[in-house]
Amino acid sequence: MAENDRQLCVVTWPGYEPDDRETRSLIEAAGVEVEFRPKVGPRTPDDVASMMERASAAIASTDPFDQTVFLRAPRLRVIARTGVGLDSIDLDAATRAGVVVTRTTGAHEETVAEHTVALLLAVIRRVLENDASVRRGEWDRAGTLTPWSLQNQCVGIIGLGRIGTAVAQRLLGLGCEVIACDPYVRSNNTIEIVTLDELFLRSDVVSLHVPLTPETQTLVNAHRIRSMRRGAILVNMSRGELVDEAALVDALVSGHLRGAALDVFEQEPPARPQLLELPNVVLSPHIAGFTQESIRTLTAQAVRSVINILAGRATPGIVNPEALIHPRHAGDGGAAPSVTSLLGDADV
Ligand code: NAD
Repeated sequence: MAENDRQLCVVTWPGYEPDDRETRSLIEAAGVEVEFRPKVGPRTPDDVASMMERASAAIASTDPFDQTVFLRAPRLRVIARTGVGLDSIDLDAATRAGVVVTRTTGAHEETVAEHTVALLLAVIRRVLENDASVRRGEWDRAGTLTPWSLQNQCVGIIGLGRIGTAVAQRLLGLGCEVIACDPYVRSNNTIEIVTLDELFLRSDVVSLHVPLTPETQTLVNAHRIRSMRRGAILVNMSRGELVDEAALVDALVSGHLRGAALDVFEQEPPARPQLLELPNVVLSPHIAGFTQESIRTLTAQAVRSVINILAGRATPGIVNPEALIHPRHAGDGGAAPSVTSLLGDADV
């Protein structure tokens, strides 16, 4: 087979270790060549397009795929997204271009929930401030750095999906009152469902677990922040664009909010210097979904999706099954495989 006829999978997901023998042997046995272009900083669609010109498949985390990428990637048939958020991919443009998008649901809800609780406890127990104080040689017991308590606090969860539910379960176990707002969840046996207005008014902690959509963009704006209780805490493990970061910084500086736990930012890495200097904010580099274990699971699921879609087989986690009827997925005989035969347990 001529070099140019081989199917190429471009891996921009930085968690895929090139020497991961198990998945490498699977993908190579399927006759797919692999090229590693790991994302280590912000990228434009133009950057991504230049990597996809010869690609049949991509394994990607948050790289931007828009219409311009699809126009310059005539062979691309599948993007295996290592994660669940779809805000970095123009799904309609992908479907029109016949590019199937898959995501790795079920792989990291528990991990994000653990990280949410870890960072929230770090803010409330003032872990970083006390750690820095001890390292400075101080021994400040019952002084200005005395922690607060999570027990009996009211935590408002916005988005009671897979991650929101896993967070709620943990917080109930820690003795919190948990309320939630989700327009697509009418009732829940253990968690009181409230309106967004009520959630902001009642919560000592507001925790965000919604996808980024036009409806949720800057959901937490200056007006919403003003409606929060004085001394409340904001937790964002979802997407930076859900929060007006300038308004959040103002509220932290003025003391209206006690603290924040943030894994995601308007711009990544975060560019707002004040945010990096505030002592009552705990930050992490968009790693809520990652553990040594979850990275292996995400990689294995993405590799399986690529192999299956390129071979015309069913695979879990398909987000846009309509893309399968595009001529790009036609087999050697020229006909596209039947959608129902390919869908299997598609995530529609
Ligand atoms: P999910 O689809 O299971 O849950 C999302 C929930 O949000 C759904 O129940 C939906 O009904 C609800 N929702 C949608 N619009 C809403 C609105 N306007 N108000 C309130 N609720 C609304 O998704 P998930 O697996 O729980 O993931 C949630 C988000 O977490 C993802 O979209 C992603 O952005 C983010 N995430 C971040 C990381 C990380 O590493 N920081 C990792 C994984 C996921």
